[in-house]
Amino acid sequence: MSETLLQVESRHTQVDCVLPVPRTTLLRLSVTDLCNLRCRYCMPLEGVPKRSDCCLLSLECLASLVIWLSSQVGINRIRLTGGEPLVRPGVEHLIEELSSLPAIQEVSLTTNGSLLSKMAWDLKAAGLGRVNISLDSLDKERFKEITRGGNLDRTLEGIKAAQAAGLTPIKLNTVLQRSTWRQEVPRLLDYAAESGFEIRFIELMRTGTERAWCESEFVSVDEVCCGLDLEVVLEKEQTHAPARRTLLNWRGALVSTGWITPRSHPFCSRCERLRMDARGQLRRCLMDPKTFDLPLALATMSGLEVRQELKSYIAGKFAPHAMDSSFAMSQIGG
Ligand code: SAM
Repeated sequence: MSETLLQVESRHTQVDCVLPVPRTTLLRLSVTDLCNLRCRYCMPLEGVPKRSDCCLLSLECLASLVIWLSSQVGINRIRLTGGEPLVRPGVEHLIEELSSLPAIQEVSLTTNGSLLSKMAWDLKAAGLGRVNISLDSLDKERFKEITRGGNLDRTLEGIKAAQAAGLTPIKLNTVLQRSTWRQEVPRLLDYAAESGFEIRFIELMRTGTERAWCESEFVSVDEVCCGLDLEVVLEKEQTHAPARRTLLNWRGALVSTGWITPRSHPFCSRCERLRMDARGQLRRCLMDPKTFDLPLALATMSGLEVRQELKSYIAGKFAPHAMDSSFAMSQIGG
């Protein structure tokens, strides 16, 4: 693995430091914190109370906030997430509206894939560009265990449907876990080699109620790469995306891989993301304790004041000293 860029990133992020005023081009928009799965690292076992649904903004309201944001802070790409974005009724109408905005170059979605076999074609027709699909295991029992009830076949059918509908290029997201990576990573690389999908391996962050478990299950990307003696054939061009993208020679096949290393080699200094949850709360970073209440600001301040406040909020974006949050990822919008 080339260390140069990664070492620079680590230097930037060892302590809380304010970053150079970041560009914000990608909005991660969480449309719900509800989910039909309960992945242990992401969602409390008991789920999120359904009553919290009543505090969510309507999709029309979320669309107006996005329109305002794209005109003010240069957002040109939107990724819908959650919770599970596909459990929110009407999400395809939101996609239709957002993808028709002249400033927006792409609307994409992160999903567990379980509803894609029903929805992929409607989503494509609504203007969705592509999907990232979470896939932590290819073993039915293990998949059920980590998702606390999920059905592997349904997700695999969803992946096929997304491909057939043209929601491509499909990327698979796998969260690395210490107790399973030796079995799972080779199987997932075989699957990626057969299917031609890009696969991204993500280091486990300590979030929500399972932080002790997350800590014990953490394994770094370096350990996995060395442990499997992975051969990087090509380093792809580095972009502002968090993943370091490579081409691997895996058992004679070339596999596109992405390595997302928030814990071992943070990528904060090149992060261009802004997050908004389904209540209209903005966050500069997943681990940011301070949010910006956009609906409140727009209701109580002049347009100029909101712009100034928002600019100074974004300018205060910092690199957290640890990837640790008491909020579950499903609440923040991972
Ligand atoms: N429900 C959708 C899904 O399953 O992809 C979207 C939401 S989920 C929060 C988005 C991504 O966050 C998934 O790829 C998931 O693997 C990742 N994620 C959630 N909790 C995480 C954690 N503690 N550490 C690392 N990645 C996490």
